[in-house]
Amino acid sequence: MFDLIIRNANLPDGRQGIDVGIRGGTIGAIEPNLAATAGEEIDATGRLLSPPFCDPHFHMDATLSLGLPRMNISGTLLEGIALWGELRPTLTKEALVERALRYCDLAVSQGLLAIRSHVDTSDPRLVTAEALLEVREKVAPYIDLQLVAFPQDGYYRAPDGVASLERALDMGVDIVGGIPHFERTMEDGARSVEALCRIAADRGLPVDMHCDETDDPLSRHIETLAAETVRFGLQGRVAGSHLTSMHSMDNYYVSKLIPLMVEAKINVIPNPLINIMLQGRHDSYPKRRGMTRVKELMAAGLNVAFGHDCVMDPWYSMGSGDMLEVAHMAVHVTQMGGIEDKCRIFDAITVNSAKTMGLEGYGLEVGFKADLVLLQAADVSEALRLKPNRLFVIKAGKVIARTAPRIGELFLDGRPTSIDIARDYIPQATQG
Ligand SMILES: [Zn+2]
Repeated sequence: MFDLIIRNANLPDGRQGIDVGIRGGTIGAIEPNLAATAGEEIDATGRLLSPPFCDPHFHMDATLSLGLPRMNISGTLLEGIALWGELRPTLTKEALVERALRYCDLAVSQGLLAIRSHVDTSDPRLVTAEALLEVREKVAPYIDLQLVAFPQDGYYRAPDGVASLERALDMGVDIVGGIPHFERTMEDGARSVEALCRIAADRGLPVDMHCDETDDPLSRHIETLAAETVRFGLQGRVAGSHLTSMHSMDNYYVSKLIPLMVEAKINVIPNPLINIMLQGRHDSYPKRRGMTRVKELMAAGLNVAFGHDCVMDPWYSMGSGDMLEVAHMAVHVTQMGGIEDKCRIFDAITVNSAKTMGLEGYGLEVGFKADLVLLQAADVSEALRLKPNRLFVIKAGKVIARTAPRIGELFLDGRPTSIDIARDYIPQATQG
């Protein structure tokens, strides 16, 4: 006897027609034709059942602030940072909490149940940290929210950068952040990496830095980050976010860098939507993509997970909390369109993200948490293509969000009266 059985689901690993039985908030069975009863059953009708999406890189203190106090006219990263600097002194805890909770509602409806958010610690009032610590408590029943102390204006460059970051950690922020490429000099950047890794080692915390978010091939802080990771024994606990300069680096240098990153077990977090939008701005043509070397890094065995980074904030006016939109962009920017490639891209918004965040009991395994999302798509490839509706979002065995399937009605002579964008357009090769 189960609390809930989801019948006839397809799984991300390609298994089809599988039943998943849930008891006491955990997965109790994963098998075809599960001979058992349940208080509630959901017929998946051959749709894709996945563990929930995880976003390992977000800015929840800035989200949904689009237009405050004005729009980003140039649309550049640097005007975004300047705009955030104008908005920041006016922020109140109440407004921050309200926007963050509203974003979490959207996230849940999109099947996004784990988020790592950076928290700007540059304003010594730390109203951002206060607000998001409250939000972390409030959303804990449905979203795993991790917080990174992020010195947006520079750890050394901002007047109170050093002290504010330490205070945010004292308040309960979980992870040590950084932004070495934004310090005044390369040397300051390297010093900040060393200091921040030391803090993480002393406090037993993970590290997640905005690192080399630039087109400058000589922005090589990832090398320092990897070396300090090894020196402080932080292997596996450190993430390098963005790493866009690797796109522009010399191949010979990269051939030395990647093995060092492997030695340090660096978690790599590209942000495809934001990277393709904000990088390459100083190029005329040809114009660089400004996306790190995803395929090479994955091939080297590094854990690569994609972040959403921004939704409707000073840096990015778009976004909808949809990790499939992130992955959809990644397929294009990385040119990873093959079947195997697409499976690895899907991993980068699910299992790889969960690994980066150190989530326990995540995944489709017996004994793991019954956190699931049922998509209006037959398989991973179709999910990436369609960014389909999330028919059911399940947390600890309970349905916490539902969206009806997207069915278009047609009024055409001699043509069908409705179409299911997923089911009616399954590629011929995979039918039957
Ligand atoms: Zn970011």
